Order: sequence, then C-alpha cells, then structure tokens
Amino acid sequence: MPNIETVLGPIDADQLGFTLSHEHVAMQPAVVATHYPWLVDREAIRERSIRELTEAKAGGVDSLIELSTPDLQRDVELMAEVSRASGVNVVCATGLWRDIPRWFHSKTPDEIADVFVREIEVGIGETEIKAGAIKVANDAEGVTPEAELVLRAAARTLKRTGCPISTHHWAPLEVGRRQVEIFQEEDAPMDRVCIGHSADSTDADYLEDLLRAGVYLSMDRYPGVEPRPNWEQRNATVEELIRRGWADKLMLGHDYAPGLHPPESPTRYLFLSTVAIPALRADGVAEETIDLMMREVPRRFLTGEAN
Ligand SMILES: [Zn+2]
Repeated sequence: MPNIETVLGPIDADQLGFTLSHEHVAMQPAVVATHYPWLVDREAIRERSIRELTEAKAGGVDSLIELSTPDLQRDVELMAEVSRASGVNVVCATGLWRDIPRWFHSKTPDEIADVFVREIEVGIGETEIKAGAIKVANDAEGVTPEAELVLRAAARTLKRTGCPISTHHWAPLEVGRRQVEIFQEEDAPMDRVCIGHSADSTDADYLEDLLRAGVYLSMDRYPGVEPRPNWEQRNATVEELIRRGWADKLMLGHDYAPGLHPPESPTRYLFLSTVAIPALRADGVAEETIDLMMREVPRRFLTGEAN
C-alpha cells in the first residue's frame, strides 16, 4: 500500500477515505500575518478551524487537500495542530499562488524546482512536515512570464519526485488550456495533474478538451458565489461529465477557508455531503460513482496508483 504524505506524517493510502479536493484549513493574509501580527487573530482562526474540521470529521470528511502556498500564508504548524485535534488528514502543498515573490522572477525553472523538491523531500521551513502536492495558479491574467517559470518548475518537480500538481485556474477564460500545454511541453505525466476550479465553467466541451489531455479536474468552489455558477449549475456540469464517461477523472471540493468566510451552519466543509451530493443521488448518480469521485480518484491522484 503506497503512502500519502500528510502534515502529521505519511499515512497508508487506504486511510485517505472521503476526500475534499481543494480546501484551506486556515487563511490568513500573507505578509500581514507575518509582519503585522496584531492585525490577525491567529488563535481565533485556529480555534475556528478546529471547530469546523471536527464538525466535518463527524459529518464524514476524512481528508482534505490543503492548497495554501507561502503567498497565501501557508501555516503548516497550524495545519498540524488542526489535523491532530480534528482527526482530519491534511495533505499540504508546495508551489506558489498568484503573488509570486520577485525573488523567483529571475530564477530558472530548475532553480525553482529545487525549492519545491526540498519541501517535498526534506520538509517545509524548519519543520519535518512534507508537501504532498504542488500548487500553481493562473487567474484572469492568464499565464504571465513569471507564472510560466513556476508552471515549468512544478512540472519538473513532479517528474523528479512523483508529487502531483493541483492548479488554480480561471475557467471562464479557459486558462486551463495553457496550463495543460505547458505541462505537455515539459513532458509531465498528465495523469498526475489536476486542473482546479474547473466547476467555475459550465462548458462541458471545454472541460472535456482538458480531460482528453489525461488530467483530473477538481470540480470545486461549491456552493459558488455570484456571478460564478451556483451549486446546481456545478452539479449539472459534473453530471454531464459523468454522462460522457469522465467520473474517474473528477474530484469535488469547496475551496473553503474558515478565516475568509463568515461562519455557516453546518460548516461549509459539509456543503457537498449535506446538499450537493444528496442532490446528485436524487438525480440518479450511483453511489459507486460518488465513492469514485470522493474516495478513489483523490487516492489515485495523490499516489499515482491506478487502482
Ligand atoms: Zn484555494
């Protein structure tokens, strides 16, 4: 049984269970939290994250893929505390989001990959916590020159370590096409790449073009915020892709961060479990298809094992 790296150390892949594809345990404003700590109540964020993830665990969430990066104030020690207290497995990420520090702009993809590889093989910062995924991000601005360096670095890191890539992408402008193109140019194994925020598009033809490259899609950001698709539209897109035969390439999530959103009851980590998935069932999606998307696909994505 292959291992999956979590913030509390490696676990057997069969312990992964019901897994959310793209979440955040806590979100603090980057730089602000480090340099102006009186503006950020880290203790309150920690308490709230523990409360909500404990509730999520009781509601059947076993694991989540946490895609915060340094420019999203990634805080792996806080993640470890929250994971230990709640019992939810947390896979954390190396990589970068949209605020790429200027230091990286003049580096080569291989030099950037060295940084990511260290966080996968040695540990993050002074900790022994290792990244289990590589995050990259391209929004409405498309793939800027410095973001292209990061994408190429991510592809090379995947090839050096076997650690999978999970992207943030701006689906309305089909930025995923360029992400896929760059990973293909780098000859990355496409079955270890997940194109994220894909449910922000309702265009099944576009999403199917991405899938044909061999990638996974993270159908996340449930329940959706205006003017982006609402949860019913997200479900409709998921159902259309299932109908076209792509269930074994889909994962679901919320892109939720307790520090950023006002509290809800139940916690938004349970929106899929309590609202969206029951609606999929009511529409006739089979239980085994739901298990495939919520359990099998995340496990395959994280381990690289076919089944
Ligand atoms: Zn996110």
